[in-house]
Amino acid sequence: MKRNILIVGGGFAGLWTALGAARVVDKQGDAASDVEITLVSPRAALQVRPRLHEAHPEQMAVPFQPLLDTVGVKLIEGAVERIHPNDHSVDIALAAGGARSASYDRLVLTSGSRLFRPPLPGLAEHAFAVDQIDEAVKLREHLESLASKPDTAARNTFVVVGGGFTGLEVATELPERLHAIFGDAMRPRIVVVERADVIGPDLGPGPRPQILEALEKLGIETCVGGGVVSFDAKAW
Ligand SMILES: Cc1cc2nc3c(=O)[nH]c(=O)nc-3n(C[C@H](O)[C@H](O)[C@H](O)COP(=O)(O)OP(=O)(O)OC[C@H]3O[C@@H](n4cnc5c(N)ncnc54)[C@H](O)[C@@H]3O)c2cc1C
Repeated sequence: MKRNILIVGGGFAGLWTALGAARVVDKQGDAASDVEITLVSPRAALQVRPRLHEAHPEQMAVPFQPLLDTVGVKLIEGAVERIHPNDHSVDIALAAGGARSASYDRLVLTSGSRLFRPPLPGLAEHAFAVDQIDEAVKLREHLESLASKPDTAARNTFVVVGGGFTGLEVATELPERLHAIFGDAMRPRIVVVERADVIGPDLGPGPRPQILEALEKLGIETCVGGGVVSFDAKAW
């Protein structure tokens, strides 16, 4: 009888867990030769989410099948839809269509995180995100499409909602990205809106002077102590 380690989610945590488990199994030699490791992931690629704010998000997927094959980890392309703890099994909706189940002795849940989307009017229709590759690609396409729009203050204004780590990364990357698209033909106005009274509230006071200095150097404005309450298509 095989003993199964089943890992749900092929992000950094899941992939690392699979590789780490394979290493331990390998080190144990014959004592662990009955251990089977399986990764369940909707895609056979790692999304490099920490770089989705950059200019080419479509390039931020690294196929991991060759790596898994090398260390003997099985891959099931699909999403776990239900966990049955009593009989140690999961139901999987397969990426290629159809469904199957898989059993486990040890289950590792590494299904990750998703962007928090507050229920604000207009957010779904008018805001962009860089949480997943397809969303980041939509933002890139939108930035590029602005080149064919009239040169107005509205076109040239970019509001980043949230002045935490990711918001700051998005904002500080924008000047260079826009310069690559427009050259000197656009003078963008970039505003970071943060509900807390300070920029980067969770980053603590330590790095704040450097963050503020970097924002100032890039000409990025901040608006703290107030949150965005709605989004619409009107120019202002
Ligand atoms: C733009 C951006 C910039 C960032 N910058 C940084 C940074 O500089 N430094 C840093 O440390 N962090 C950064 N982060 C955060 C970092 O990307 C995440 O902390 C990290 O990706 C979390 O890894 P994870 O494996 O836990 O989850 P995830 O990356 O969310 O991966 C989880 C995986 O599980 C899959 N999954 C979900 N549900 C199921 C299911 N039911 N069945 C099977 N699979 C499932 C998902 O499809 C996904 O592939 C950034 C994030 C973004 C979006």
